[in-house]
This record gives sequence, C-alpha cells and structure tokens, in this order.
Amino acid sequence: MATDFVGQAQALRERLIERRRDFHRHPELAFEEERTAGVVANTLTNLGLEVQTGIGKTGVVGILEGDQPGLTVLVRADMDALPVREDTGAAYSSEISGKMHACGHDGHTSIALGAAELLAPLRDQIRGRIKFVFQPAEEIGQGADAMVADGVMNDPAPDVTVGLHLWNSLPLGVVGMADGPIMAGALTFNITIRGRGGHAASPHQTIDPVVCAAQIVTALQTIVSRNADPFDSAVVSVTCIDAGEAYNVIPQAAELKGTVRYFRNEVRDLVTSRMRQIAENIALAMNCTAEVNLSPMTKPVVNNSAVRERLLPVFENILGADKIEAIRTMGAEDVGVFMTEVPGVYFFVGAKDETADSYYPHHHPRFTINEEALPLGLALLTSAIAEYVLP
Ligand SMILES: [Zn+2]
Ligand SMILES: [Zn+2]
Repeated sequence: MATDFVGQAQALRERLIERRRDFHRHPELAFEEERTAGVVANTLTNLGLEVQTGIGKTGVVGILEGDQPGLTVLVRADMDALPVREDTGAAYSSEISGKMHACGHDGHTSIALGAAELLAPLRDQIRGRIKFVFQPAEEIGQGADAMVADGVMNDPAPDVTVGLHLWNSLPLGVVGMADGPIMAGALTFNITIRGRGGHAASPHQTIDPVVCAAQIVTALQTIVSRNADPFDSAVVSVTCIDAGEAYNVIPQAAELKGTVRYFRNEVRDLVTSRMRQIAENIALAMNCTAEVNLSPMTKPVVNNSAVRERLLPVFENILGADKIEAIRTMGAEDVGVFMTEVPGVYFFVGAKDETADSYYPHHHPRFTINEEALPLGLALLTSAIAEYVLP
C-alpha cells in the first residue's frame, strides 16, 4: 500500500479529538440524532461526497465515488448515545442532563468522518466507491434495520462491510478481530404465568403463580447447563420477576422477563424451544398456564473468514503481529444486520483509559476512552477500506 495512513491519521489527531468532544458534549438518543446527523452531513458534503439524509429516520449515507470501476465498501459508524447521567467530571462532559456518550459512538462517528477526509482527496485513484453509513439507534438495536428498510443496501449494493468499536477493556494498541461469531444474537422474552389468586392464609384455595414462576426460573437454568452443547455459547438470564403487591394476597399472575444470547441460530432455536417446553409444562404440572413471548433484538455479528484473512496482514503491519486478539462478547450489536447480507469484519479497537481512577465498563456513568485510540482506529479503518479500493 502506497499511502501512509498511520502518519496521515496522526496528523488529523487534533481534529478527531475535537469532533469527538463536540459529539460528546451533545449526546442524542436513538432516532433523535438530528444535530449529529447535521454535522455529519455537512462535513461529508464539504468533502464532496454525495450525501443522503433521513435514511432510517436520522441516518446519513455519504458516497465517495472513485474514478475507476471496482467494489463498493460499506463503512458503518453508529451515532447514538445512552440515557445515562454522566459522572466523569471531564471538561467536555455531556451538556444534556441524563444523556451521555457512554459507549464510544462519539468516537466512531469522528473516526468515520476522518476516514472520509483521508480518502476524499484520493478519488482519482479509488477503484469503486466507499459508502459511509452513519447509523442511528444502535443502542436499541433498531437503527440498522431502519436503514435497510430505507434501501441502504441498494444503489449501490455493497460488496464488503467494515466497522469498528472502541473497546475500553482492551489496552491501546491492541485490536480484537476474531474469526466467525464475535458478538451475540439477542432476543428478549416475557413469560406470563396465570394461576388463581386468593387469600395467602388459604393457599389450598388458590393456584399460586409465584411458586410456579420460581420453579420455571430455576428450570430455565438447565437449558445452558444441560441442553446446549458445552462447546456452544449461550446465555439465558431472567432479569425481572413481577408478581403481587401485598403480604397477604396470592396474585392472579406472575410475569418473568429476560434476555437470551447466542452465536448460532441453531442454538437460538434449541434455547427458545426448550424455554417453551419448560415454561408450559411446569405450568401444567402446577395447574397454571404459561405464555412465552419472544422478541428478536439483534442477529449475531459474524466476521467473514476471507475478509478477516485479507485484513489481518494489513493490521499486523500497523500494530505488530502479537497485538491482534480473538475477542468475543455476548454483548449485542446491530451491525450484524449489514454483515449477514454482505461479508465483512467488525473489529474492537483497544481504548483503555490508563489515567482513569478505576475501570468503568461501557454504559457506565464514568465510562471514558483513551483518545489516542481515535487516530489509531482511523489508521486501521482507512487501511482496511484502502485494501479493497486502492491499488
Ligand atoms: Zn453500547
Ligand atoms: Zn456501542
């Protein structure tokens, strides 16, 4: 590769930080990213890209058309913040109470704009085109679907997808890029258990949904431990039990809520069919009824082997061979929507903040990143794109 994107990304360091801090001060929640989308659209327009706004409500698409024929690379960045009250004490803290960029999407938006800035002057050498996709509403798992519904995968249809997530549990200079599934598919569930309420002093005259719910919660734990293949990954977490409100009343019904995480659709199908069997049959045994409702959230994020193989030497060249790790998480991400339609790679860029007083995970009110990850992330992302569109 002729171009030194590491040096060019470093030269853009101040602007990357400035833009990231600007987004950080002005966080916007899912599908409300009006200001962010405006900044993105203006910046892309000024760089000479063809810009579409309002894709998936508040999403923005910028197309950088090369002068030579070739592939279309989809670059995905997410723009939304979280309903979290910031407690970092940073000089550039959120100016909007109760909203915070606590996942690093401010950095993702800044990095993707930086990539457009580095690549726009190379238009005459670019073979094909780059489709920059600035996505809303990642945190609620709906933005990618909304953009796909608005036609983001057409005209031009992408051939390959690349994207990154700043990752503050990984040190700076380390990248996570495993082969195959790297983030989980997710669904939520509600289980409604109906019995017959009555006086708590006369349980024999009632059908107690609380005892039934307790047995279902316990039995659900056996799906991962007894039904799923030990070499597969799955999570079944009951996160809410809702029943009754008095000391002396057995309620009519109990409700369980929770989430399921999986890497393979076969595992999802096994887990959900066992959930139904367990809930319905325990309820039957306890004279109750159980109704299981499942709501899909996100697809698994699966790195394509061929794309990963091709990018591995590019990244090793920048970072060194021992700096690329096989990171996987049962966390969910809707970038999988783009990556199931088109082969791609999603990678985690180490952004651990060594100056923080303690480690605070993503989504925590004191979440911070090491901003030196911005130029490094930019160098990696731009080099990945260049691998597909530059000679
Ligand atoms: Zn997040
Ligand atoms: Zn995120």
